[in-house]
Amino acid sequence: MDYEKIGNFIAEERKAKKLTQAKLAEKLSVSEKTVSKWENGRGIPDTENLPKLCEIFDISINEILNGERFSSEDYKIKAEEKLLELQRQKTEGDKRLLNMEIVIGVICLTFYLPILLLAAYLDMPVWLKITLIVGGFIVFIVAKLFAIRIEQKAGYYLCEKCNHKYVPKFNQVLWSMHVNRTRYMKCPNCKKRSWQKKVVK
Ligand SMILES: [Zn+2]
Repeated sequence: MDYEKIGNFIAEERKAKKLTQAKLAEKLSVSEKTVSKWENGRGIPDTENLPKLCEIFDISINEILNGERFSSEDYKIKAEEKLLELQRQKTEGDKRLLNMEIVIGVICLTFYLPILLLAAYLDMPVWLKITLIVGGFIVFIVAKLFAIRIEQKAGYYLCEKCNHKYVPKFNQVLWSMHVNRTRYMKCPNCKKRSWQKKVVK
C-alpha cells in the first residue's frame, strides 16, 4: 500500500469537505497528531477509523486504501478484472483435475492388469484368484467412477451443433459412448445428439 498516496488523498478529501485537521480529528475521536501522521504518509487509519472516515468523506474503504476515487467506469473495469481472474483460476483448477483423471487411469491400469495376469497364470488357490480378480475389479470401478466424476465437473462440454457449453449430469456422462473425453450426448440447449468435446473454458 502506498501510504503517501493515501495520505495525500485523505488531505484532499478533508479539504474538499472544508474540514481542518483538528475538526476531522474531533469527528473521529482521535488526536490531531494522528490525522497529521496519516496525511504525511507515516501511517494509515486503522480498521476502527476507516469506516468512520468513509462515512465522513462519502467514499469506500477500497478507495481510501487505493488513495483515489473510482469513477463508475473504474468500478466496472475492476469488477471485470476480478471476474477474469476468477475464470482463470477455475480454468487452472479444471486443467489440474483433468490431469489427475489421466493419472488415476494410468495407475488403475498399471495395477489392475498385472493383478489379472498374476491371477490367471500363477499357481494359487482358487479363493485367492477370485479375491484378486474381484477385489481388483472393485478398485478399478471405484477409480473409474471417480475419474468420470472429475471429467463431468471439470470444465464444460461443447455442443458441436449449437456451440452451447454446459456441465452435464453425472449419469449422462457415465452412460454415454466416448472416445477419450469426447462424448456422444444430448445437448440440453438444442436437444440434438452429437459428439461433444471437453473444453476448459
Ligand atoms: Zn446444442
